[in-house]
Amino acid sequence: MSSRPAQLRYRGEADCRRSACRRATRALDVALLDSTIARLLPSVPRPLVERISRRYIAGPTLADACRTVARLNAEGREATVDVLGEEVRSVEEALAIEAEYRRVLETIEAEGLSSNVSVKLTALGLKLDFARCRAGLEAVVSDAAARSNFVRIDMEDSSATDETLELYSELRGAGHENLGVVLQASLRRTVADVRALAPLRPNVRLTKGIYVEPPAVAFGEFEAVRANFVKALEELLAAGCYVGIATHDEWLIGEGLRLVQEHGLERDRYEFQMLLGVREELGETLVRDGHRLRIYVPFGEHWYEYSLRRLQENPRVGGYIAADTVSRMLPGGGSRRPSSSR
Ligand SMILES: Cc1cc2nc3c(=O)[nH]c(=O)nc-3n(C[C@H](O)[C@H](O)[C@H](O)COP(=O)(O)OP(=O)(O)OC[C@H]3O[C@@H](n4cnc5c(N)ncnc54)[C@H](O)[C@@H]3O)c2cc1C
Repeated sequence: MSSRPAQLRYRGEADCRRSACRRATRALDVALLDSTIARLLPSVPRPLVERISRRYIAGPTLADACRTVARLNAEGREATVDVLGEEVRSVEEALAIEAEYRRVLETIEAEGLSSNVSVKLTALGLKLDFARCRAGLEAVVSDAAARSNFVRIDMEDSSATDETLELYSELRGAGHENLGVVLQASLRRTVADVRALAPLRPNVRLTKGIYVEPPAVAFGEFEAVRANFVKALEELLAAGCYVGIATHDEWLIGEGLRLVQEHGLERDRYEFQMLLGVREELGETLVRDGHRLRIYVPFGEHWYEYSLRRLQENPRVGGYIAADTVSRMLPGGGSRRPSSSR
């Protein structure tokens, strides 16, 4: 029905199939290289890790996060701020994270920044005490509502999916409208979750999912995850949900653009989302074309432990970062700019 926006469909279908074959034959080598990078990381000097991480993490303090958000806002991007600190070990630590989120919301308002917040439930004590976690989340969500702001619950590994969706549904049922959730296209259950949540018309960030999960729980094939992403997105849009299309995969961005166009959605009825420092040229194209783009901005004192854990949990991310870092060191690297699409 609609013609596909050419500028972001860099790869056509045949191209995608060819690259899927190439990917399959190279997959083993790449996986080995990625896990080697992840294993070697703890021996990489901390200042070097810090230099590389600087691109992906705003810094240790809230002031660092605010500076980053202000810069993004000036470039036409919105933000969502994440306080690093998942898997807390005590209720006191969970309370400290809750207090930090309230400080973030207060500062966003005071500085007139365009940003909401993203919260990991394990950082609010999900694995320690469900009731405590619920109370902490409700306090943050109420604080955000008083400031006309919004809270997104990040999705963690599949051991937390049931409780996360339960808490989300409970708080929405209790009348908290300024609360969103994340669904992961890599999980086999996701389309069923979309259908179960549909009566709430949830505000959903749709991602591939970063955690390495067992085959019984998640699709392993790259193309199966993509297909499930498109299916979940179709169902979310058909149910009238606001979706944050969170991916750096150009093909999926093209599919997202096709679907929002097919649904005749105005620009304020959906958004794209990306991680800080990742595929900035793609983001620039989206913003230039008038789409809303939100950037995920993590900050916190424990950036080093967070970076190492993330990279070791999912070696593929280490491979992406190594490839990106090397390409920036090559002549012309990092200065690529997309051609104008207008
Ligand atoms: C705003 C946002 C919020 C997210 N929240 C969650 C969440 O709550 N729970 C969850 O499980 N996952 C979350 N994710 C991560 C997501 O699930 C994917 O793991 C991640 O986005 C990579 O998948 P992709 O769709 O970009 O496609 P991929 O095919 O993995 O990546 C496409 C290209 O993007 C680049 N790239 C992707 N990721 C990185 C990276 N980390 N560093 C450097 N380059 C990279 C590479 O060039 C890669 O080739 C989030 C992602 C975004 C953008």
